[in-house]
Amino acid sequence: MQRIGVFVCHCGTNIAATVDVKRVAETLGKEPGVVVATDYPYMCSLAGQDLVKDAIKEKQLTGVVICSCSPRMHEGTFRKAAQQAGLNSFMLEIANIREQCSWIHKDIAEATDKAISIGRAAIAKVRNDQPLTPSQNPVVKRALVIGGGIAGIQAALDIADAGYDVDIVEKQPTVGGKMTQLDKTFPTLDCASCILTPKMVDVAQNEKIHIYSYSEVEKVEGYIGNFHVQIRRKARYVDEDKCTGCGLCTQKCPMKKVPNEFNLGLDDRHAVYIPFAQAVPKVATIDPRYCKMLKEGKCGLCSKVCGVGAIDYKQQDRFVEQDYGAIVVATGFNPIRLDAFDEFAYTESKDVVSSLEFERLMNAAGPNNGVLLRPSDGKPPKTLVFVQCVGSRGTSCRDKEYCSKICCMYTAKHAMLVKEHYPDTEVYVFYIDVRTPGKNFDEFYRRAVEQFGVHYIKGMVGKVVPQADGSLDVQASDLLAREQLHIKADMVVLAAAMEPDKSARHLATMLTASMDTNDWFTEAHPKLRPVESPTAGIFLAGACQGPKDIPDTVTQAGAAASKVIGLLSKDHLTGNPCIAECNELRCNGCSSCANVCPYGAITYVDKEFKMPARVVVTRRVAQVNAALCQGCGGCTVACPSGAMDLKGFATSQILSEVDAICQ
Ligand code: FAD
Ligand code: SF4
Ligand code: SF4
Repeated sequence: MQRIGVFVCHCGTNIAATVDVKRVAETLGKEPGVVVATDYPYMCSLAGQDLVKDAIKEKQLTGVVICSCSPRMHEGTFRKAAQQAGLNSFMLEIANIREQCSWIHKDIAEATDKAISIGRAAIAKVRNDQPLTPSQNPVVKRALVIGGGIAGIQAALDIADAGYDVDIVEKQPTVGGKMTQLDKTFPTLDCASCILTPKMVDVAQNEKIHIYSYSEVEKVEGYIGNFHVQIRRKARYVDEDKCTGCGLCTQKCPMKKVPNEFNLGLDDRHAVYIPFAQAVPKVATIDPRYCKMLKEGKCGLCSKVCGVGAIDYKQQDRFVEQDYGAIVVATGFNPIRLDAFDEFAYTESKDVVSSLEFERLMNAAGPNNGVLLRPSDGKPPKTLVFVQCVGSRGTSCRDKEYCSKICCMYTAKHAMLVKEHYPDTEVYVFYIDVRTPGKNFDEFYRRAVEQFGVHYIKGMVGKVVPQADGSLDVQASDLLAREQLHIKADMVVLAAAMEPDKSARHLATMLTASMDTNDWFTEAHPKLRPVESPTAGIFLAGACQGPKDIPDTVTQAGAAASKVIGLLSKDHLTGNPCIAECNELRCNGCSSCANVCPYGAITYVDKEFKMPARVVVTRRVAQVNAALCQGCGGCTVACPSGAMDLKGFATSQILSEVDAICQ
């Protein structure tokens, strides 16, 4: 005999303002098998949970339905409470009458009827629930951090500090990310290298951290606590263990006209190169696109000068395989390409640069040793125009709809640095509106206006036209003065929108992690689980999740690290028992299920079946690997013979829910 309890939550006024919770409880209380039905203002509160626990014990309930918010919010809370009261936690169902009902309806009568239908469906499901027992899986006590920018570095240092081994996979020859290219950093204007390079050295010297630089993740298998990852170590044609980073090879290489990525093509490097003096690891890399020896089989100069025999033209990509308990994604961002914004003459004039290029031009280790000179003629610029929101907050297909968040602040920084070093320069900033929330951020922007006399103009730049005398005619509107402007500028700096790294989507597919429509990694819950991906065991740090400055990046990396530490501190993890199972009598071994399973959890075995008259038939049938199955349910839909079913979400349960709604 089933004894079901129904508990209807008001969620303050979130539910109770639109749904007549008393009528819901009363009506559901009359459903067959329901022995108790009641309502309460906050069912998730301690008192609310006690109400449920007491009823389980006193009424000897065999099943519970909680009519409340989304199961994403509190299913875990209530299942724990049920377990504590002695009921198998999988004998509890959530009827979502908030997100799926009260929040999307206005009419109380209609919403109440709908809440009753949703409750009925959950009662129908709980009637068919079976007690399930989660498996216990051991945890590999090692973490992987993908991306070695400041986010990845901070996360790795924090995880290692707690005593766990961490590997960083960085696709570039050095760790450091975009911060290595910055000059001074807002809001304190301290030098980026001075705060970053000690951390890069810490990472390199930490015994618990291993850096796979110039490497990429090739394949990911497994699940939380037990990921199996294949890493591609790209051939750098230099033996990392032998190279001392002396740089002799880079001086002798005859291929000197290779655009230098570190300086964003503003100067050149050799075919064999070390990205910058503080690179970690500080080893040379040969660029196969330009090396004469690799392309034509002629030259070999670098090998001749290398005193330690580190050059290896025959080096091939290598693969490393490693197990991890947790993965942190820290793949960062890139400024968008500006080729599509030709109204600003970006491809026409060398004196129109992106903000990141401007960082390099201002940087003491940049192409001009920190002296600001016009890229076209090497003369000091006298008038600079900064244009904000280039590609951000737009509606056309080349634009991003979102605000890139950091450009207002770094543009104020650039304007201030120019005025500090070259007080006679005229500096204009065109903005839609200035967004500077953050500790000491608005004060920082006001300093640029009030102390340094930067001209902030609310308005859009419509066109930049290169002139015969080398200047740039900046045509813009001043929305407050209601006038059209022509500014004769020497340089124009474009604050390009931020976008996720191009590799992010491929990586997300490998990790089965979710992304939003702009390809930023999405968090499990924007408020309550901001550093976790919805995929268990995958954590997010830094600008891979959305535009972020360094303080926010470092905070998030620390938070992601603490989640990883919490996970790795456990010896075992409780597995999800809602996994697929195969009814071998129905299975015809067609492979449809294995073809759709994203976790590779299905294999086939030959099995003998005893038929009438002592006939034995051998058939190929599907088998589910319980450790790999994540319970996505794809196989149950794909199976043409209805052999695959999902524990806790059996086809019969779903159909009984549909029947209950349609009754
Ligand atoms: P990134 O710095 O982008 O690092 C990501 C790393 O991951 C890179 O090394 C990349 O190579 C690697 N990677 C990417 N994909 C993969 C992959 N598939 N596999 C392996 N590795 C991968 N912030 C401030 O607080 N103050 C400032 O003054 C400031 N000035 C700025 C000026 C400009 C012009 C710009 C563009 C940004 C500025 N910022 C500033 C923001 C700052 O750069 C970011 O907050 C910071 O770089 C984010 O760090 P991150 O590690 O998340 O990403
Ligand atoms: Fe020096 Fe040889 Fe390394 Fe080049 S490869 S930096 S020459 S040790
Ligand atoms: Fe440069 Fe290639 Fe010659 Fe080495 S072999 S010196 S990298 S061109």
